[in-house]
Amino acid sequence: MRPQNALLSATGTTIFTVMSALANQHQAINLGQGFPDYDGPDDVVRAAADALLDGRNQYPPMTGVPELRNAVAAHNGRFYGLEVDPNAEVVVTSGATEAITACLMAVLNPGDECVLIEPLYDTYLPVVKLLGAVPKLVRLSPPNWELPRAELAAAFGPKTKAILFNTPMNPTGKVFTAAELAFIADLIARHDCYAICDEVYEHLTFDGWKHIPLMTLPGMRERCMRIGSAGKTFSLTGWKVGYITCDRSLAPNVAKAHQNLTFTTPPNLQRGVAVGLVKDDAYFAGLSSHLQQKRDRLAAGLARLGFGVLETKGTYFITTDVRPLGWNGDDVSFCRTLTEEAKVTAIPVTAFYASEDAPSHYARFAFCKGDALLDEALARMERWLAARGSRPVAAAG
Ligand code: PMP
Ligand code: GLN
Repeated sequence: MRPQNALLSATGTTIFTVMSALANQHQAINLGQGFPDYDGPDDVVRAAADALLDGRNQYPPMTGVPELRNAVAAHNGRFYGLEVDPNAEVVVTSGATEAITACLMAVLNPGDECVLIEPLYDTYLPVVKLLGAVPKLVRLSPPNWELPRAELAAAFGPKTKAILFNTPMNPTGKVFTAAELAFIADLIARHDCYAICDEVYEHLTFDGWKHIPLMTLPGMRERCMRIGSAGKTFSLTGWKVGYITCDRSLAPNVAKAHQNLTFTTPPNLQRGVAVGLVKDDAYFAGLSSHLQQKRDRLAAGLARLGFGVLETKGTYFITTDVRPLGWNGDDVSFCRTLTEEAKVTAIPVTAFYASEDAPSHYARFAFCKGDALLDEALARMERWLAARGSRPVAAAG
């Protein structure tokens, strides 16, 4: 048989699926793949359930049902002061995953360069390459994940068409500062580029950190495609409803990409999300304070066990350094052994890097779980570590 698509043949199954399968196999507590073990708001779920039964189950409008497009526009105004035309500047997609691909498709031609920031979410690189574009990677370094400004500036050149970046950032928990965003905005304007802004964790920030959409910076309104996800904002990751906000000059191409990927997104779920986006301020404040408590609970527990705990300003995730535990193998062997022996699953952070020379001693834990489950995971890891003593563990195996 002739060889199939070379890029996909060379792409592995996503680490989230691999680690969730391993967790199931070993009955481990899954703090790997980022999904809550609690349901989203009752009124949102109820609205979607009602919408299933009211006879409106055929194709919705391609760019989204009017209720949701209006709600996305209003949400942009309410939280960020962005004035958005719901009829010309919003495209609803089947998850942020589709939105990312649609936005990249909207602007990239084969041979165009696209700047990406490592560590990066796992769909970014394969999609950029499948489009025939050339990825230009810039790496943030732990433990502070500061933006290396000179390297970022050097990654932009005459062939740069776009930058794709994520704030609040998975897996680092970094929230880009106003100064960093201004630096990025200046590069985008000077090189006449577009920005694909993965902002799925926009409402999950802690300790007073505020998410700032790049789109709100001077000169960025026409250049940014801003992506949100109902999965994260309403703790409903299985719904896969995403929404893109972009200038009316970009929206037609984004919509045409969506037209060729999925065409539409389930209408009942869109109607539920429309109810969610207009919920009162207390809902959004409660979402982040609830998660901040969980972050604190897991971070304190991991630190007590001897992990090196990096700061998390936003998202669902804590990145930990496993070397202080005496682990002298890599992150992949750590996460595998933790699943098999301690019965707790985490994600090896090397999965968020394109090349072999990535730092290989970090494990990512999700804290979007019930308190009892977080406590049980910590108790399991404590017993596991105690049974191993303080000896370097990899040497024993
Ligand atoms: N971007 C980032 C950074 C993510 O962590 C995720 C994971 N949910 C997504 C995009 C995909 O979001 P969705 O589930 O809405 O497709
Ligand atoms: N965004 C989730 C994470 O980072 C996983 C999504 C997926 O499984 N594709 O854990």
